[in-house]
Amino acid sequence: MKAKENFIRKAKLAYSSLPGVRKWANRFASSPLYFKWLKKRIARQKEKDKSGPFNLVIETSNFCNARCLMCPHSIMKRSKTIMDNKTFSFIVKRIGQENLPVNKVFFSGMGEPLTDPNLLRRIEIMKKMGLPVRLYTNASLMTKEIARKIVALAIDEVNISFNGTNPIEYQKIMGIDFATTVDNINYLIEWKRRVGSKKPFIQISSILIKENKKNIKKHIQNWEGKVESVTVSLAHQWGGGVKVNPKLSIQNSSAKTYPCRSLWHTFVIDSQGNFVICCRDYESKHILGNIKTHTFADIKKNAVLHRFRQAHLKYSRDALPPMCQKCNFPYQDGVEWLLPRSVD
Ligand code: SF4
Repeated sequence: MKAKENFIRKAKLAYSSLPGVRKWANRFASSPLYFKWLKKRIARQKEKDKSGPFNLVIETSNFCNARCLMCPHSIMKRSKTIMDNKTFSFIVKRIGQENLPVNKVFFSGMGEPLTDPNLLRRIEIMKKMGLPVRLYTNASLMTKEIARKIVALAIDEVNISFNGTNPIEYQKIMGIDFATTVDNINYLIEWKRRVGSKKPFIQISSILIKENKKNIKKHIQNWEGKVESVTVSLAHQWGGGVKVNPKLSIQNSSAKTYPCRSLWHTFVIDSQGNFVICCRDYESKHILGNIKTHTFADIKKNAVLHRFRQAHLKYSRDALPPMCQKCNFPYQDGVEWLLPRSVD
């Protein structure tokens, strides 16, 4: 499986960073045969996805210390908060009571998770429940003590959002200090090596925008071989919240769309305990319930979720909810339905 995962990660990197590969892949995916074949496959897979295993995205904080150009955090209007202990306990309780099959728990959302002072204790609870954990962070608040704890807890994956090849570029894109972050990442790599731990799997991820485009090859070279994975993604429109350069993004001009897989296999809980339709709903506009009052089973039967799914299964841009029309996922040729859950 590892070789397959590595191949997929390399293919994704080539797709995002090499326009020639992108052009070839898009031509292949636009054939009617591909569409017919994938539609059949999606029909089967969506039924399987309904019974899990599910991804669980938990936003324990929606505060952020960075101000990234390609993120809608700066325009987000919902109130900023750290998830309280009662809400987090409800998540833990319900996972156990419902015996929820979990693929991965993502500590992520619209904030920097390390702004939550309880984060590592919360991750520890999930790890003790035997659940695989991926932490999304910009790593600028990852002190030596935190890095050691990340290794000691055997957090499965750490995805580090890192945008910029040099201090000027990085500061311009993310608004935080380059040298601090690089030192923090290097310490995590070094400590993991020193104690002989295989975990965490460290991934450096970047978004391709005009500010880092020129140096993206150098950025990849800088990190390849130092960490387990380097990814570059095309800029996301966040349901219309972020304006992206059309040359550096997935085009949403196609009338034919594919269903967004996350509607079948992911639960997203915001910092107030609300179940929201997806991780791109940064304002929590589409609330399906709250972990304090609703079980996971309730959410699976939710009418709004059902409506979103039905709209996506029409395979047409015009049938999609407005937020989804301005999102990237329906225009990605349905590739997420082809990927193994381990790379989710
Ligand atoms: S397509 Fe819609 S449901 Fe899927 S991530 Fe985008 S906004 Fe959310």
